[in-house]
Amino acid sequence: MTSHTSDGGSVDFLPGPILLIGPPGVGKGTQAKMLVEQFGIPQISTGDLLREHRQRRTELGMLAESLMSQGELVPDDLVNDMVADRLAQPDCERGYILDGFPRTLPQADWLDRYTAADRVKESASSGRGASLAVYALSLVVPHDELLRRITGRRISPAGRIYNIYTNPPEVEGVCDVDGSRLEQRSDDTEAAFEKRMQEFSQKTGPAIEHYRALGSFIEVDGSAPVAQVTKAIFAAIHAFRAVVT
Ligand code: AMP
Repeated sequence: MTSHTSDGGSVDFLPGPILLIGPPGVGKGTQAKMLVEQFGIPQISTGDLLREHRQRRTELGMLAESLMSQGELVPDDLVNDMVADRLAQPDCERGYILDGFPRTLPQADWLDRYTAADRVKESASSGRGASLAVYALSLVVPHDELLRRITGRRISPAGRIYNIYTNPPEVEGVCDVDGSRLEQRSDDTEAAFEKRMQEFSQKTGPAIEHYRALGSFIEVDGSAPVAQVTKAIFAAIHAFRAVVT
């Protein structure tokens, strides 16, 4: 089946569900946006969804607030329910990019059950990208570079990302595009970064091993320039889909 991308191009396959797993600052969000553009499937960032909950001051948002600021994970059941709500929306039928989920083995097990049920509901021949097998993609960047990316990151209210070391705005603290004030995420401090790294190796490590054991794990060097990383990711997705449907 041919699917059309946002730039009017087309690809001769659907990429299906893609899981972007990786440590903080590795470029998951940036690369997810490239995949959205290429394949026209939605990016679902559990970090963004949780930050929206915090902004709306929902019960989940209030509970997540201090955990997130300290770099700790939000409990699995709450995150799984939030993801289930989002995946049930019609724009996920052709596939989706989960950015920052799963982050634990219980989340990966939950997603396995969720996607297996999806495959039973809809046969793969129906052309639904969502019913294809999932695979996880991780990016690799050295620790000190991650720290520099995280502590230097500044974000505009509209979501434009700058870095005071590598991609500074023309005027300090001000967005080049709309003049808004740039902000630093409350968990982009060195202390929260180290906690997030610890959570990543202790809790996300077993989820990665789960996908590795299934032969559904792809690792890409994330320290190259953005466009080069994107190219490597596209190549990996094509290669994976050529053998697994
Ligand atoms: P991110 O924007 O992906 O860096 O996520 C920011 C924070 O949101 C994390 O440090 C966690 O506190 C929380 N979070 C995001 N995704 C998850 C998840 N899948 N499971 C648990 N907590 C999460």
